[in-house]
Amino acid sequence: MKKDKIKNDHELACSFCGREAQEVESLIAGEGVYICDVCVQGSLEIINRNAKQKEKQWAKSINKLPKPSEMKAMLDEYVVGQDSAKKTLAVAVYNHYKRIQSNSLIASHADVEIEKSNILMVGPTGTGKTLLARTLAKILDVPFAMADATTITESGYVGDDVETVLVHLLQNSDYDVNRAERGIVYIDEIDKIARKSDSASITRDVSGEGVQQALLKILEGTLAGVPPKGGRKHPEQSLIWVNTRNILFICGGAFDGMEKIIARRINNRTIGFVSEGKDTIEEGYDILQHTEPEDIQKFGFIPEIVGRLPVIAPLEPLSDQAMLDILQNPKNALVRQYQKLFLMEGVELDFEPGALTAIVEKAKTRKTGARGLRAIMEEAMNPVMYDMPDKKYIRKCIITQDVIENGAEPIYEVSTQRESVRTSA
Ligand code: ADP
Repeated sequence: MKKDKIKNDHELACSFCGREAQEVESLIAGEGVYICDVCVQGSLEIINRNAKQKEKQWAKSINKLPKPSEMKAMLDEYVVGQDSAKKTLAVAVYNHYKRIQSNSLIASHADVEIEKSNILMVGPTGTGKTLLARTLAKILDVPFAMADATTITESGYVGDDVETVLVHLLQNSDYDVNRAERGIVYIDEIDKIARKSDSASITRDVSGEGVQQALLKILEGTLAGVPPKGGRKHPEQSLIWVNTRNILFICGGAFDGMEKIIARRINNRTIGFVSEGKDTIEEGYDILQHTEPEDIQKFGFIPEIVGRLPVIAPLEPLSDQAMLDILQNPKNALVRQYQKLFLMEGVELDFEPGALTAIVEKAKTRKTGARGLRAIMEEAMNPVMYDMPDKKYIRKCIITQDVIENGAEPIYEVSTQRESVRTSA
């Protein structure tokens, strides 16, 4: 577009308001169209007004930001245990959104650099890392997206592909960039992009480090060009520009082997947590709770990444009782979900305590934390749900230990009245 002040030309007029060239200060020419300075000024005012309105809306919603204790209470409804991780997360998230708020309030007065505090969750698989991040986004009513760090590793053009982490966030914000820029991104399996060896000078794991460098950019805040539909970027494709400065990144990983690193550090400082040898720990002692930034670096992360993940929230392995609770207590617990499904068939569903314990025992052998619970439940309930709609006058279905362990038939209670409570039969 070329800017041009045209005088004494009676043929040219603003394409928006119709004012002729001599009536206005400036007439800016585009391809076959013109816009005058009055319309530019008017448009600018509309844009500014809209931006202010959006800011106001945001400020309003941030004023409703739950306090850390309220956030924890809401998390409790969905996530069992993990109390200390919940508290750490609640405070970090609260501070994050407060910082954004103060940033937008004072941005017009001064160039205030606000430090981002992304979060790192360390803990065994299936203990609630993803669930915590997802639930936080739900509580705060901000867009949420999940990405897998290993998919970044696999690509050749890591620098480009890292932006695809943001594609889902954009999609989940209905392509409202403003909303996306305040969302939460959970990056899973972050431990898989660690350098394999700590002795970087000898065996430099370039690929791992390359991915970390690429990730660093979006973690610290950059204007990222995101291909709207994902995939690789190509030159003709139009990109959506997303500023990641205010996006909260929560990274999570199991960090297998971290225990030894921590044990060695603690042992070196001769604090008596360690029983024997340099890197052994007492049975049952949850040493991950003592994770420090230097351990993350030792694990194979560049110091810059460690610096960009200042909040570390370790998660605990799930106890048997926690697994039992997960089956029954959260708002969308598996038992509740199946009960609802059965109720739609007009059947009350009950699990004997032995059945629940058996589910937990089976899940434990899979070593995938609470993730195993769903699979075991599916396996056991599938045949039951296949048969049940064909049975008549069933009032209640009781799942016993034998159903879970040996695929036996559940106990069915039949309605005593001729009119069955079932809706389908
Ligand atoms: P990860 O720690 O590997 O990210 P997830 O959060 O994806 O684990 O959990 C896997 C499944 O197990 C989810 O479906 C979730 O419902 C359940 N789960 C895991 N931990 C908990 C927990 N502490 N409370 C409630 N459900 C949990």
